[in-house]
Amino acid sequence: MRKSIIAVDIDSTLYPFIDLWRKVAKSDFNVTFPTVMHWGQCINSFESFDDAMESIKICHSNENIREAAPYKNAARALIELMYEDFDIWYYTDRDEKTERATRFWLAVNNFPVPSNLVICKDKRDDLKRVRNELFTLIDDRPRTLIHGLHNLNLTNVYSIQHTYNENLKDIPGVNIFDDWLEMGEVIKCSK
Ligand SMILES: [Mg+2]
Repeated sequence: MRKSIIAVDIDSTLYPFIDLWRKVAKSDFNVTFPTVMHWGQCINSFESFDDAMESIKICHSNENIREAAPYKNAARALIELMYEDFDIWYYTDRDEKTERATRFWLAVNNFPVPSNLVICKDKRDDLKRVRNELFTLIDDRPRTLIHGLHNLNLTNVYSIQHTYNENLKDIPGVNIFDDWLEMGEVIKCSK
């Protein structure tokens, strides 16, 4: 079977979710995140786990989804990959209630095939199901990148650079970029 799927994450991959979360944490919960943000540390910064989950829910309100500004050239890079015969699929662990707003956001921001959206409970399970067709994944989260290499046997995985993943560059197969166009070119060349 041809490995043609590129699984693309949304939060902190297509737009700066972390910046939005930092803002919501401060304004609605008076919580200040550490400079180098790791998922667990951010969750633990809140008074309770429920507060942390509520803050993420606020980030994913229809209004916040609508207003998120994508990273420069993210849509263009994905369109170019689609023209290279890759199948672009979006995998997100967002709440399923956000599906419509998320699809709409992808469409209005010119991302290719917004209908290829998979809302997951834990995307690691969903990605396992398509592992035979999976060419690579683009995701900011360390656990997803490592899952791709170790459990899905991908040769390369990709991410936009964040403070919490920049040091993963030491791991062979983890490719971190601060620019979407450059990342797209490297993926193209790895075909
Ligand atoms: Mg993400």
